[in-house]
Amino acid sequence: MKTHARVVVIGGGIGGCSTLYHLTREGWSDVVLVERDELTSGSTWHAAAQVTQFGAIQTMVGLKRHSLDLYRELSADPEHPINYHITGGIRLGHTVEHLDGYHHFVSMAKGMGVEFEVIDGEECARRHPLIRSHGLAGGLWDPLDGDIDPSQLTQALARKAREGGAEIYRFNPVEAIEQSASGEWVVHTKNGTITCEKVVNATGYRVNEVGAMLGVEHPVISMEHMYFLTEPIAQLEAQDWRVPILRCPADDFYSRQEKKGLLVGIYEQGCKSWGEDGIDPSFTMELLPNDLDRCLDNMERVFERMPVLTDTGIHTIVNGPITYSADGLPLVGKIPGLRNAYAMLGLRAGIGEGGGHGRMLAEIMVHGEATWDTWALDPRRFLGHCTREYTTAMAVQDYQNEFRFHMPHEHRPAGRLAKTTPLYPVLKARGAEFGPVAGWERALYYKPTADFEHVPSFHHSSWHGLSLMRSARFSNALV
Ligand SMILES: Cc1cc2nc3c(=O)[nH]c(=O)nc-3n(C[C@H](O)[C@H](O)[C@H](O)COP(=O)(O)OP(=O)(O)OC[C@H]3O[C@@H](n4cnc5c(N)ncnc54)[C@H](O)[C@@H]3O)c2cc1C
Repeated sequence: MKTHARVVVIGGGIGGCSTLYHLTREGWSDVVLVERDELTSGSTWHAAAQVTQFGAIQTMVGLKRHSLDLYRELSADPEHPINYHITGGIRLGHTVEHLDGYHHFVSMAKGMGVEFEVIDGEECARRHPLIRSHGLAGGLWDPLDGDIDPSQLTQALARKAREGGAEIYRFNPVEAIEQSASGEWVVHTKNGTITCEKVVNATGYRVNEVGAMLGVEHPVISMEHMYFLTEPIAQLEAQDWRVPILRCPADDFYSRQEKKGLLVGIYEQGCKSWGEDGIDPSFTMELLPNDLDRCLDNMERVFERMPVLTDTGIHTIVNGPITYSADGLPLVGKIPGLRNAYAMLGLRAGIGEGGGHGRMLAEIMVHGEATWDTWALDPRRFLGHCTREYTTAMAVQDYQNEFRFHMPHEHRPAGRLAKTTPLYPVLKARGAEFGPVAGWERALYYKPTADFEHVPSFHHSSWHGLSLMRSARFSNALV
């Protein structure tokens, strides 16, 4: 094992291995990765591993598209095949508002060179013959949606990194980290000490164990997340093509083909956070106890959408930890308050996004800037109000709304009143409605009547015309 390296990446999941590979691609070869167990032994090995181009902002679309292109390139290597199926995918839409959103995402993605298509309900059922089209207004079609073997993918990134000069030390937990007077990081591992210029925390759900070694607590917690796998389905056995991926914002589920059966994952409303009181050191390559009862309500509706499931057995249930940050987006970039320390944390769709995240972080580390706008993922965006309680409340809310994209000017209820100014009660008493900005409650408009409700929309929302500046009550508030 080396005693000195330019970079030490801690954690050998998709996030760490992608960072290591992209550092070598940017020309840095004196880089190492330290993994406490086997590569992929955190969340990566058991992921449903869907790889979509869909993202709510252009940065996410761009980096997901990079993942996809990279995974196609890696899986084309005949010496090291990867199970990668590009099936296309449909995000179902149940209302006109869903479709308005999808039209917005089509044009936004076009700006990143990514093509989606809005289709009607009948077309959804034509492209996915196991679904009924009742209640569907349509859907968003991603022609390059698919799924990949997450372990093969991570191993491929590790192999490519090694070919670029990187070294990987497995079964070697990091136990302590200190910074020397000259600013170098001294990383103490079970098998020895490595002194380096830059350190990367890519430790998945152990984010705050290694965070504590660096003296920081990141606004990231873990949620339990479940999917189940079914027995073979005759219709799938009879056809020589794979059905597309489904994601449903109304019934909170996703589904893809797995062998000749289906994999169905659920984002249940009665969800559970995990690991806040510490994680057993022996929890590695492990799953959490099954609790599919939490998902019964969703399952009833999933079975109505895909009636074939009613007569199909479930052979495996997977429940694993998945990380969420205080605003649902990952932390990729410099760790605030530290020199030469970087985060690759809070990955909640790390398989699909990991290729892009690794490129973004490597570019930031090597060049000081990245191909895409980095601010949305910059770890420095969080302020002091992101306590563990706040982060948990936000993570639960994000989990419950996994496929329910934000509408313009939509402000959700979790984590509210984190920060208020002395004017808050004054404006509130005069009928102001508020929305949070960096935790601060900011007045948006005055309600014209006590029972007025803001209905967000991609067209004019119901507050259109209620200008704060034009409101007579606003001038009253100023005197
Ligand atoms: C049920 C389920 C389904 C999912 N489905 C999808 C999906 O369809 N698509 C998708 O994109 N994502 C999916 N995900 C999410 C995905 O699995 C994660 O986003 C991704 O695996 C996170 O990767 P990571 O590298 O950040 O963390 P991990 O894979 O957890 O890797 C972190 C690594 O750090 C190591 N480590 C921790 N502490 C130390 C230490 N002190 N020293 C050295 N090493 C250390 C760990 O051993 C681990 O190997 C799913 C997750 C779950 C639970």
